Amino acid sequence: PAAAGGLASTATSFPTTHDKVQDVQDTPYFIDNQFVPSQTSRFIDLHDPATNNLVTRVPQNTDAELKAAVESAQKAFESWRTTSVLHRQQIMFKFVSLIRENWDRLAASITLEQGKTFADAKGDVLRGLQVAEAACGAPELLKGEVLEVAKDMETRTYREPLGVVAAICPFNFPAMIPLWCIPIATITGNTLILKPSERDPGAAMILAELCTKAGFPPGVVNIIHGAHDTVNFILDEPAIKAVSFVGGNKAGEYIFSKGSANGKRVQANLGAKNHAAVLPDCNKNQFLNAVVGAAFGAAGQRCMALSTLVTVGETKEWLPELAERAKALKVDGGFEEGADLGPVISPQSKQRIESLIASAEEEGATILLDGRGYKPPSGKYPDGNWVGPTIISNVTPSMRCYKEEIFGPVLVCLNVETLDDAIELINANEYGNGVAIFTKSGPTAETFRRRIEAGQVGINVPIPVPLPMFSFTGNKKSIAGGGASTFYGRPGINFYTQLKTVTAMWSSADAISNKADVAMPTHS
Ligand code: NAD
Repeated sequence: PAAAGGLASTATSFPTTHDKVQDVQDTPYFIDNQFVPSQTSRFIDLHDPATNNLVTRVPQNTDAELKAAVESAQKAFESWRTTSVLHRQQIMFKFVSLIRENWDRLAASITLEQGKTFADAKGDVLRGLQVAEAACGAPELLKGEVLEVAKDMETRTYREPLGVVAAICPFNFPAMIPLWCIPIATITGNTLILKPSERDPGAAMILAELCTKAGFPPGVVNIIHGAHDTVNFILDEPAIKAVSFVGGNKAGEYIFSKGSANGKRVQANLGAKNHAAVLPDCNKNQFLNAVVGAAFGAAGQRCMALSTLVTVGETKEWLPELAERAKALKVDGGFEEGADLGPVISPQSKQRIESLIASAEEEGATILLDGRGYKPPSGKYPDGNWVGPTIISNVTPSMRCYKEEIFGPVLVCLNVETLDDAIELINANEYGNGVAIFTKSGPTAETFRRRIEAGQVGINVPIPVPLPMFSFTGNKKSIAGGGASTFYGRPGINFYTQLKTVTAMWSSADAISNKADVAMPTHS
């Protein structure tokens, strides 16, 4: 098939401004290490969030194209599964070095399509790259166990690949989330079909090109596009043995239940409402900077954004100072020098965020800092999806702005009197992704750590996303299936492999009896 144009095939040049893309190209799909234009008549327009100019059209792949991607992955699995883990490790080393070489290019694609600032986009790439680096340790992680369980008898375990696996990704980390999946799925011997978000597939397309250059054989990584129809295809396709999903609760709960009902392994990381509790004894300056960064960075479009502040006692008096620092943030096009946060992903998202701010006002909260109607002062981007940093105080748990994930640059603030009250309030929230506490007291932090129900706890750390030698351990409604399958780290290796347990007897002695033993064998 002919290679198509677009970002994915231009190895050296990449955008550095939000200027209108001349000669808009459709995004190709990626099969057998080729970029192929889709034959579909259905496309999803992708706009630069800073300008709403058209960047590319993303195809809704046809059923025949989706089926072909699965067949290609099935064929590739036959030989990929028998390659040695050391061979796969060499490819992963190369992939890691290519990601580093293409770091700026990947980040530029993210800034153009997703909107986050270039510096933040580089962090998006780095967090994914680190998963690929950790995956290079697979020879150690894939080792099985062995025990002599009886005389002349041993039991040993092997970790075997599952087959064809699929990943369904969200818009907010266009490089990091594909890189939670590509390295671990492939180094364990599976072949992968990845569906990037239809809102920003550019970084995944560059990663596809780097997979080819790194030496992945054709079909080991295929990239397909589309929205609900592609997801339903993945869920219904019997050849796909496992599904990795990251995104919101509506899609994720559906994908988890349908995928599981169809007999697939499913890991699904979902939405969040992350709280920070601040105690009067904390380092105030550190706290103020940490919360401003974690609430408004990436325009609040991080699953680990600190979107909810619980001020304990007198710390509620610090809110005006917090608002001053938030107000000083520069909201601008992501390629602009000094931009702290960019636009939100779409006009619909902006509208939803603004309506949640309005609902807080109607329900009696105070809009301490109002980002509605914001436009970057340069006047360069009149049509972008802008929402300025917003702080809502005097919030109560029954308000919509507290109950719903806002996923925008909005911090909602509640006040309580004691640490116990803070713990009770946070534990009553149905989400449990991340949480942070700001205090100088070890015993206070320990009490909080022990009693809090969120899966990832930061002590004076605002966004405690674990590095890839650990795992991403959300809790409660922030992860489907009770958190049994988590992404990356040792649990990630476990998710992508099937355990095989072998018990062998090697005895040189002749059998001492001619009678078969029909009782349940025991080895005590
Ligand atoms: P989303 O759920 O709208 O989309 C995620 C993926 O699911 C996309 O590929 C999309 O095409 C598909 N999809 C969307 N709706 C669908 C439906 N009804 N049926 C089938 N497929 C559907 O999420 P998003 O807006 O792209 O991402 C933001 C969300 O992701 C937030 O809720 C955020 O908290 C969450 N998120 C969670 C984590 C985590 O690790 N917990 C990480 C990043 C993002």
